[in-house]
Amino acid sequence: MEKREARAQAAAQQGDQVGDSLVRNHYNQAPERGVVARQSSPIIKLRNFNNFIKSVLIQKQSLGFGMRVIDMGCGKGGDLNKWSRQRVRDYIGVDIADVSVQQASERYHNMQPRPRFYAEFHVADAFGTPLIDIINPRAFPVDCISSQFAMHYAFATEELARSMLTNVSNSLCRDGVFLGTIPNSDKILEGIAGGLKESEPKEGEERYGYFGNSVYKVEFNTPPTKDQAFRPPFGHKYTFYLQDAINNVPEYVVPFEVFRALASDYNLELIYKKPFLEMFDEEVKNDLNMARLAERMKVFKEDGSLGIDGDQREACGFYLAFAFRKLGA
Ligand code: SAM
Repeated sequence: MEKREARAQAAAQQGDQVGDSLVRNHYNQAPERGVVARQSSPIIKLRNFNNFIKSVLIQKQSLGFGMRVIDMGCGKGGDLNKWSRQRVRDYIGVDIADVSVQQASERYHNMQPRPRFYAEFHVADAFGTPLIDIINPRAFPVDCISSQFAMHYAFATEELARSMLTNVSNSLCRDGVFLGTIPNSDKILEGIAGGLKESEPKEGEERYGYFGNSVYKVEFNTPPTKDQAFRPPFGHKYTFYLQDAINNVPEYVVPFEVFRALASDYNLELIYKKPFLEMFDEEVKNDLNMARLAERMKVFKEDGSLGIDGDQREACGFYLAFAFRKLGA
């Protein structure tokens, strides 16, 4: 390898490590506020909406009762109740942020009534480290891998995206399901095409422009690609802000078609893909049980009808839900 190439690779790797520790520190510092305080969040409607979407995805795309599940990027264990309702047998949470993992474990141990499933938690890079080196080999294969609002961190490099998919594919049983939620790359292209607003200059940081509203902001350090396909498809970095939740953390575009094609190299077949707002409308219109669930989860607009409106609606519209099925042996 040429010296220049080697230097560029070393700098990129160092950049990835810096990115990893920024992500870890950010999530470690985010306070765990408990149920009551969460209710007074200015983005409570968005939180309720996103929790509803994750509940529907888990209910409808995972395999049913008695499953063994790995949650890649489990955070503070916000989905433990959803998996409990799905009557899982074993839940294994993995996250790179040690403080979050500790909080997830406490959340599990404080669940009332006592959960009827086994759970264990690991501090690790779930995308870059073989899961088999982290989790007891006897736990494999699992029926489901879930990655909620986390997988986009794996699209920093092709190597990392492939190692994440190797983990998913090697861990799943035949017909096992990989499900998750990620930013919708079409929405990122739309945001760019709509024209970026000029970023406010900040000392020591290169900033170019952003789109978003009072609730969320997607900001680019350098002029973003205008290529509809995001070529080359990895390492398209932006910083993400979500009011009361995420404070300018580096994330990477997941060009969905590239993700789908890459996943097929790992025997994963796409079975479901839906932008959040479409998914909500479809579920609530076609399934009375889901409409009732939305009511119970308080997914209400300002006028009291089911749904979400205003800036929080646009922020929810930034995401999509997906599910893949593992083919073969
Ligand atoms: N899944 C949780 C949820 O839906 O509430 C947490 C989502 S939070 C937005 C993203 C999580 O991904 C953070 O807890 C972060 O620490 C985790 N994460 C980012 N990169 C990771 C990696 N390489 N391995 C494991 N977890 C990672």
